[in-house]
Amino acid sequence: MKSIRDIDVDGKKVLIRVDFNVPYDEHQNITDDTRIRSVLPTIQYLLDQNARLIICSHMARPKGKVVPKLSLLPVAKRLSRIIKHPVPLAPDCIGPDVKKLVSAMKPCDILLLENLRFHPEEEQNDAFFAKELGSLCDIYINDAFAVAHRANASVSAITKYAPVSCAGFLLIKELTYFSRAMSDPHRPLVAIIGGAKVSGKLEALENMINHVDKLIIGGAMANTFLKSTGINVGNSKVELDLLDTARNIIKKAIRKKIKFYLPVDAVVADKFDARAEIKVVPVQEIPDGWMALDIGPSTSLLYSEALYNAKTIIWNGPMGVFEMDAFSRGTNAMVQNVADSYALTIVGGGDTDVAVHQTGESHRMTYISTGGGAFLTLMEGKTLPAVIALDRAESRGASL
Ligand code: AMP
Repeated sequence: MKSIRDIDVDGKKVLIRVDFNVPYDEHQNITDDTRIRSVLPTIQYLLDQNARLIICSHMARPKGKVVPKLSLLPVAKRLSRIIKHPVPLAPDCIGPDVKKLVSAMKPCDILLLENLRFHPEEEQNDAFFAKELGSLCDIYINDAFAVAHRANASVSAITKYAPVSCAGFLLIKELTYFSRAMSDPHRPLVAIIGGAKVSGKLEALENMINHVDKLIIGGAMANTFLKSTGINVGNSKVELDLLDTARNIIKKAIRKKIKFYLPVDAVVADKFDARAEIKVVPVQEIPDGWMALDIGPSTSLLYSEALYNAKTIIWNGPMGVFEMDAFSRGTNAMVQNVADSYALTIVGGGDTDVAVHQTGESHRMTYISTGGGAFLTLMEGKTLPAVIALDRAESRGASL
């Protein structure tokens, strides 16, 4: 994929689609600016090359209406402070006022456009809206991996209208790491999949089974798998309609000679509550009325042994309800196991990312993806709409 290094950006108006959808507290203070920092290499490079930077992003879900508390103003201020450069916020993302501001920009000026999702057309991948955005620039750069799985106007349709389109450093980095892990990986390749539901990750499970040597299951989805093998999981979260599907995945894994790991013990609680009564039991002994909310210590040990010879690890989804201390040990132990491994380790998904950061081990992972949904879409073996759009531009010669 073409990157900005392949393009002469000197003095050009460059529209960068980023994901500045950072969390705000109730006073609109940014509580984590990782997403802003992750695109600094692209911003810094363009400034060094004397480009005029028009930056656009969405923020949360204003549902196509102007919601003042979802303005990108705090982001403009934070970005300005980080890069020590003025970052004015435009009153909108399209329209005559924005055009006027853009036409007054000089090389190395930065303009942040207001929340794209204040217009319903953004999420409708609307051609007119995309054309308006595209008309602001000479070059369009997509550096928003975390929304690359959404066919939104500023991600998808825009490449039909921007004179030139290409990928930013973050998007390229994300795709490169993922493909290093999946195409011709060092083996054994191990996927660790956890989280709330089999249904949310079914396609990822089915795709990963075609690639991996070992599949390790945790989180609530393990309950559905355990139940499908005839184990009584009490009141644990289970998707009863997916028992056959779960059974078929296990059968397929056996047929393909993939090593498939399920928890052997669990931390169970008498209710879904941080102050619940808890105990550790073998999965065969989950009492009626109790629920499995984390993998147990024997499972953590088993999983650490399974990861011992791994050369590549892809991890998505927590091992338990890690938001509550009482049920966070399994996920924390997994963070340590993955961090201790000599493998190439790629971690994706919002919760997994949070868990890794909470334990202070993020520096020991090879790569932590900035995208939850986009990462999962790659695990499903699908091509991201953003990548399709950039390829389309490339094939009609609008990428250079
Ligand atoms: P996901 O978005 O699918 O990765 O799911 C993450 C959520 O799964 C987290 O909020 C966890 O609290 C939840 N989760 C993980 N394990 C369990 C479990 N055993 N029972 C209920 N929820 C769980």
